[in-house]
Amino acid sequence: MESSSGERKDTQLQNFDADHSSGFSFKQNIQSILEHAPAMICIVKGPEFIFDVANEKYLQLVGYRDVIGKKVKEVLPEVENQGFIQILDNVYKTKKPYFGEEVPIKLNNAEGIPHLSYLDFVYQPILDDSHNIEAIFVHAVDVTEKVQSRKKLEESEGKLREVIDTVPSIIWMTNTQGNSIYFNKYWTDFTGQSMEDALLFGWVGAVHPEDRQEIEELVKEAHKTQEPYNTTFRVRNRKGEYRWVIDKGMPKYSCQGEFDGMIGTVVDVHEEKLKEHLVSEKEHRIRSMVEDATVATAVYIGREMRIEMANDAMLQVWGKDRSVVGKTLRQSLPELEGQPFHGLLDKVYTTGVIYWGKEDRVDMIVDGKMKTGYYNFTYKPLRDNNGEIYGILNMAVDVSEMVSTRNQLKESEVHFRQMSDLMPDKIINVDAKGKILYLNQSWSTFTGKRVEEIKDEGWLQFLHPEEVEQYLEKWNQSLFTEDYFEMELRFRDKFGKYKWHLSRAEAVRDDSGKIKMWIGTNTEIQKIKEEEKRKEDFLKMVSHELKTPVTSIKGYIQLLLSLIKSKDKSKINHIPFEPSLERIDHQIGRLTRLISEMLDLTRIEDNQLELQWKTFNLNDLIDETVQDINYTNTQHKIKVFHEYMCNVHADKDRIGQVLINLVTNAIKYSPDSQEVEVTVRKAENAKVAVTVKDFGIGIAEKDHKNVFKRFYRISKKDDETYAGFGIGLFLANDVINRHNGTITINSKEGKGSEFTFTLSVESEN
Ligand code: ADP
Repeated sequence: MESSSGERKDTQLQNFDADHSSGFSFKQNIQSILEHAPAMICIVKGPEFIFDVANEKYLQLVGYRDVIGKKVKEVLPEVENQGFIQILDNVYKTKKPYFGEEVPIKLNNAEGIPHLSYLDFVYQPILDDSHNIEAIFVHAVDVTEKVQSRKKLEESEGKLREVIDTVPSIIWMTNTQGNSIYFNKYWTDFTGQSMEDALLFGWVGAVHPEDRQEIEELVKEAHKTQEPYNTTFRVRNRKGEYRWVIDKGMPKYSCQGEFDGMIGTVVDVHEEKLKEHLVSEKEHRIRSMVEDATVATAVYIGREMRIEMANDAMLQVWGKDRSVVGKTLRQSLPELEGQPFHGLLDKVYTTGVIYWGKEDRVDMIVDGKMKTGYYNFTYKPLRDNNGEIYGILNMAVDVSEMVSTRNQLKESEVHFRQMSDLMPDKIINVDAKGKILYLNQSWSTFTGKRVEEIKDEGWLQFLHPEEVEQYLEKWNQSLFTEDYFEMELRFRDKFGKYKWHLSRAEAVRDDSGKIKMWIGTNTEIQKIKEEEKRKEDFLKMVSHELKTPVTSIKGYIQLLLSLIKSKDKSKINHIPFEPSLERIDHQIGRLTRLISEMLDLTRIEDNQLELQWKTFNLNDLIDETVQDINYTNTQHKIKVFHEYMCNVHADKDRIGQVLINLVTNAIKYSPDSQEVEVTVRKAENAKVAVTVKDFGIGIAEKDHKNVFKRFYRISKKDDETYAGFGIGLFLANDVINRHNGTITINSKEGKGSEFTFTLSVESEN
C-alpha cells in the first residue's frame, strides 16, 4: 500500500509540513505513527542529508546505528558507492521524487557484516512554501524475500528450460485453445522449423500431408475434452525425410486446478514402426495364407484351448461358423467329449511333444448330424520367445474318402477272398517269376495241408510223377512265351488218391503290358475224365458187342449159303436151317436190343423219351417177360411169386424192358447159380414192388450207387467175362423215375443181389 501511490504520501507530507510550526507534540505524534508503520521511513535534511527522523524499521535496516543528526555519508559509509547518495543529490537538485524498485542495497548489520537487501523505495522531496527543498522523505519496503524467491524461481526455471532443451525428445506446451505456446529446441533441431513458424498450429506444416488433417483435429478434440491423447504420425525432418513419431499429450492444470492447456512429447519411433509394420505385414501375410489355405488350420491358446484362429477349411471340418473363435474347444465342440482329442491336446501342451494323427477317427456333429470322418492331423506346440508353450497349432487333412475307399477295397477283398475260398477250384496267384503269392482254401481242403505250408513247400509235391516233366516243360514255356497255359494233370488228394485236374494259367499285365503276375485255376475233372473213360470203354464195348452178333450172323449165313450153293446133294438135304435161323434170330434180337437201348440213351440225353401210358396187368407182364427170357435161356430157372396182383398205369413196353434188364443181369451175373426169383409184393403208399433176386456175384456196397450211372461197369480183372454196355441200369432207373417209382439195390459182394422197383397201383386184382 505504501508504495502504491506517491500522491497520497505527498499530501500527508504537505500536511506535516503545514503543521510543523505548531510544536513538538505533532512531531512526536508523527514519530509514534512512523514507529508503527510497516515500512522503513526516515527523513533526511539539507544538502548533506542529515538524518532528522528514522523509524524503528529503518533503524533495524541500518543495524541500529545512531543516525539522527548525522550525515548519511557518515553513518552509512557503505552505501556511498552504491549510488544512493547520487540519487539523493539528484532529488535534492531536481526537487523531483525518485522511485526505486527492487534496488539492491548492501548494509552492514550490527556486527558490521555486509547484508544484501532489496528495497522498493521513494525519495520524496519535501518543499517549503517558496518551493525550496527542505528535506527528503525516504520510504522503503524490504522486498528482499520476494526478489530472492523470484530469482530462485527464475533460476530454477532457467535450469528446467535448460534440462528440457537437452532432453533428447521434443517437448511442447499448448494453451487451453490448443495453440502451441512452447517447443523445446529439439523440435527446431528435428524439423528445421523456426520457433516462430512452429508456434500456434504452425507445427502442422511439418506433418506429412496425409496425416495433417487427422492430427490437427485430434489435438483440437483433445483440448476440447481435456483428455490425454496418444497418436502416431509422420513428421518431416530437417533432411526432408518423413519419420514416424509418437505424440503424447497430457492435460496440465493451474494452481487453481483449472485446465491450462497440455504438455507433451514427440518421440521418433520410425525404426520401431517400420519393424512393427513389417511384423504385422508378415503376420498378416501368414494369417491370410493360413486363412486361405485348403489345409484345415486352427490355433488354440492356453491350456483351456481357446480358439484363437480357425480358417474356413477348419470351420468346414467342424461344421461350425466363425462364432466359435474366442471360445474354448470344449465349448465349441462338445461332441469331442469322450473322444481322445482333449487328452491328446493336454498332453502336447504338457510335454511339448508334437502329435501326429494318422487316419484317426473323429465323430463330429455336422449340420446337426453325427458324422464320422478320418483325418491326418498334427497338434504342434507353440512356444513364446522364452520357449514356454502358450498354445497349439492344429492342422488337419480330411482323408475320410481315402479311408472309406480303402475300407471298401478291404471289404471287397475280403468278399473276393471268401468267394475264392469257397470256389471248388484250386486258385493260385504267382508273381512274374512264378513265386506263389496266394492260394485259396481249396488247396488245403483238397491236400489236407495248410495253405502256408503249401506256399513254402510248393505244390509240385502233389503232382503225379508221370506229369511232372511235361508240366515243367509247358509251364516254363509259358513263362518264356508269356502264353496261356493249359494242361490236364493229376493232383494227389489228402487220401493219397490222384484226381484229374484241368490246370490253366493266364498272365495279368500292368498298364505297360508287362507281366505283373499269373492267375491259375485247377479245376477237378476227375468225374468228366471217368465219364470219358466210360464212354471210351462203352464205344469199345459197343463195337465189340455189335461185331459179335454181326460176325455170328454173317457166319451162319455164309454157312447156309455155302451149303445151298454146294453141289453135294446130301449136304443140301441136311442144311440145318432151323438152328441156324434161330441163332441168327437170337443175334438179331441182341442187336435190336442194343440198338434200341442206344436209341433210348440218346433220347434220355436229349430229354425226348416219351412214355406210352396205358393200364395193364402187371402180373401178366411179368409172366410174359419171364416166359420170353426162358425161351432163349434154358439154363436158368426163373421163379415168379405173385404175392400181390394189380393193374398199373404205365408204359408197358418200357416196364417190360426194365424187367428184362433186371432178369438178364440176374442171369448174367450169377454164373454159378441157376436160380432167379421174381416177386410181386404190395408196398407202402399204394405201391407195388417188384423184386428180382439172384444168388450170383453180388455188388460191393460202394458200387451200389454207381451201377445206375451211365456207362458204369464194375471193373473186374477178367473184363470180358460179363458182356455189357453199362447202360441197362441207367435206363431202368430213368424209366422208373419217370413213373414216380423208385429202384433200389440190396446186395453184398459174393452173396447175390436184389433189385426192387416200385410203381403206383392203379387197381388191385
Ligand atoms: P451191363 O450192360 O454192364 O450189365 P448194367 O447197367 O445193366 O450194365 O449194369 C451195370 C453194372 O452193374 C454191371 O456191369 C454189373 O457190374 C453190375 N450189375 C448189374 N446187375 C448185377 C447183378 N444182378 N449182380 C451183380 N452185378 C450186377
